[in-house]
Amino acid sequence: MQAFLRTPETEEKYQAHIARGGLTHCPLCHEEPLQQFVHWKILKNAFPYDKILQVHHMLVSMRHVTEEELNEEEKQELQTIKQGYLDDHYQFILEPTRGGKSIPGHLHFHLVVVKEL
Ligand SMILES: [Zn+2]
Repeated sequence: MQAFLRTPETEEKYQAHIARGGLTHCPLCHEEPLQQFVHWKILKNAFPYDKILQVHHMLVSMRHVTEEELNEEEKQELQTIKQGYLDDHYQFILEPTRGGKSIPGHLHFHLVVVKEL
C-alpha cells in the first residue's frame, strides 16, 4: 500500500534501502531527533508518503518497545504530548495496523500534515 503513497523518487530510494538490508537494524533507535521529550522523540521520516503529505514525521518511544510494553510514565507523557505539542504542529496522528507496520518491534505513530491540492 505504501508504494502508492510515495512519489516514484522516494519509493525508489526506499526500495534501494530495503534491498541493502536497511530494515535489519531498527532505524527508529538511531536517527537524530527533531524534537526530544523525556520518554519520546520526534523523527523525520526518511521515506515519507510524499505523494499526499506535506509533513511526515514520527513520534517514537525512546525505548525499543511495543505498545504493550509501555510503562505508566511513558503512557502519561504520551497523553501530554498528544494534547499539547501534537495539536499545535500536526493535522493527524496515524498508526498502521499490525499488518501494515514495517517496524513492528518499535512503537511509532505517524504525524502528518496533508498536502493542499
Ligand atoms: Zn528501535
